[in-house]
Amino acid sequence: MHVTRREFTKQASLIALGSLACAQLAKANTIYTVRKGDTLGHIAQRHGVSAAELRRANRLSGDLIGVGQKLKIPGQGAATTAVASARNPYLVQAGDTLGGIARAHGISVGELKRANNLSSDVIRIGQTLHTPAIVNSTDLLTHVRAATAKIAVRRDNWQRIVVHHSAIKYGNAKKYDAAHRRRGMQNGLAYHFLIGNGIDSGDGEIEIGPRWTKQLLGGHLKSYQLNLSAIGICLVGNFEQTQPSKKQLAAFTQLMDWLQGDVLKKNTQFAGHRELKGEQTICPGKYFPLAAMHARYD
Ligand SMILES: [Zn+2]
Repeated sequence: MHVTRREFTKQASLIALGSLACAQLAKANTIYTVRKGDTLGHIAQRHGVSAAELRRANRLSGDLIGVGQKLKIPGQGAATTAVASARNPYLVQAGDTLGGIARAHGISVGELKRANNLSSDVIRIGQTLHTPAIVNSTDLLTHVRAATAKIAVRRDNWQRIVVHHSAIKYGNAKKYDAAHRRRGMQNGLAYHFLIGNGIDSGDGEIEIGPRWTKQLLGGHLKSYQLNLSAIGICLVGNFEQTQPSKKQLAAFTQLMDWLQGDVLKKNTQFAGHRELKGEQTICPGKYFPLAAMHARYD
């Protein structure tokens, strides 16, 4: 059974009001206030855009910025080239810092230094850095495979996979399902999959929503048309404030690899929620390594 357009319209208006977890922090543009020690390149790297894009968005002719200055952070588009794949070596660019590169790849500075035998934080332009893969050896998908083996996946229907953050630190599938039902979504949990952060469900635990087992349209996007063909994966947490955990990213990449490879058997379009036209949100947050995931899944 699918949701009716009427139910969806109700969902859409509620989402527009900001009642869906990830939409709570929605705003059209991200504004960043320059802090002491920031460089244009550093800010660009942290937000997964190039320094040139940042200059263009703010009509800057050079790299000079001042503390307290407000910068508009452009949405991430296909032109974003700053971050290489998590599988491939990364070439250091002007303005890069170890912290920025580590964050963009979802790893810690310590891991990045260990992977490259670095004894200090000094890096130079043109240097090649190895970025250790996020995927670890623990299989986090066993139960997802088992549940999916029992259903007929509507392979031809799914055109894209969209990643969200929940924008709050707490919650699990049961809690979000109840909240979404209270807000008028009769199919419950808006996402197909939810990845826990160790607070209300396991760290890296993948919970399967009824919209996946019943192969229903998502409730995670404002656009009805997009919801029809978009699988929604949500990571619990507010990634405007913190990074996703390493296990959450491992679970996410394992889930994505499996969905694109074994389940859908096609290069389904991958997007962060904010990258979809008309969605007006900052989801999945600036600390989600969106650029690295694009390098992996585009
Ligand atoms: Zn979202």
